[in-house]
Amino acid sequence: MNCIFRTIRIPLFLLGGFFLSSCAIQLEDCAGPLLNTQNLLSIQANRFFEGPQAYLVLPNPIDSPQLKLFDISQLNESNFRSAQLGVGLPELQNFSALENSFLKVRLNSIGDSPDKLVGVSELSAASKDVTHPKYSQVMAYHGISAITDYVESLGFSVDRSRELYVMVRSYPNPDPEPNALPQEPSKEMNAYYVHNTYSRKPRYIQLFGDVKYPLGADRDVFWHEFGHLFNESITANRGIDDASERGAIFMEGGGQFMSVLLIT
Ligand SMILES: [Zn+2]
Repeated sequence: MNCIFRTIRIPLFLLGGFFLSSCAIQLEDCAGPLLNTQNLLSIQANRFFEGPQAYLVLPNPIDSPQLKLFDISQLNESNFRSAQLGVGLPELQNFSALENSFLKVRLNSIGDSPDKLVGVSELSAASKDVTHPKYSQVMAYHGISAITDYVESLGFSVDRSRELYVMVRSYPNPDPEPNALPQEPSKEMNAYYVHNTYSRKPRYIQLFGDVKYPLGADRDVFWHEFGHLFNESITANRGIDDASERGAIFMEGGGQFMSVLLIT
C-alpha cells in the first residue's frame, strides 16, 4: 500500500481568545480506495436477488422520505404501500424463522415456540403492519444483515465467534434457567446490546416495549445496537464500552454514529 503521512497543525486558544500554541494530528493519505462504494452497490444488488424478499418502510415511518408521519394513525394502506421498499433477506437457513448460523431473530426469548416466529411463507403478510411484532422481526433480519454488509464492504470484519440473538419484544431475561417462572414482555421502552463476553453465551440485542410505535419498526435502532457489536469486533472482542462508565458513554456515541451516518 502506498501511504504518505501528512501533519496538520491546529491552533489552540485560551478562553480569552489569545493564540497560545498548536497541536498536531498525523493524518494518513493512502492511495488505495478507502470506501469501496462500487463493491457495496454490487453486494446490495446481489442481496436483493439472493434470498426471499420483503417490503419495509425505511428507515421507519417517521423518517421515510415518502411518509414523514408523526401520527401513525394516518398510516393507511395506500400510503403505507407506496412507501414500502423491497429488501432481500440473504443467507436465511431456516424456513420457519429468520435466522442463519450467526443471526437469530426471535420475539420474546431464545426459546420461542415456532408459532411466534416469521416463516419464509409469511414474509408478505408480516410486511403489512408496521406495529406487528412479526414486522419487527423482518426489520431486525434486514437491518442487521444490511449493516453487516456495509461494514464488511468497507473492509472490516464482524466477529461471529458467538451467535447474535435479536429479541424484538424481549422478556427481561431472554435466556431463563430451566423451570424459571413465566415471564411477560416488558412495558419499558428501551433497547440493549448484551455482550455476554465473560459468560461466553450468545450476544443479545433486546428491544422492549409493546407499544403502538414499537422500536422494532425502526431500522436505526438495530443499527445503533449493531454499533456495539461492531465496536466489539474491532477491539479483539473486548468492547470500549466495557471500560468503565466513560467507555460506555463514548461507545453510546459510537453506536449512534453508526445509526445516523451509515446510509444504505
Ligand atoms: Zn447503545
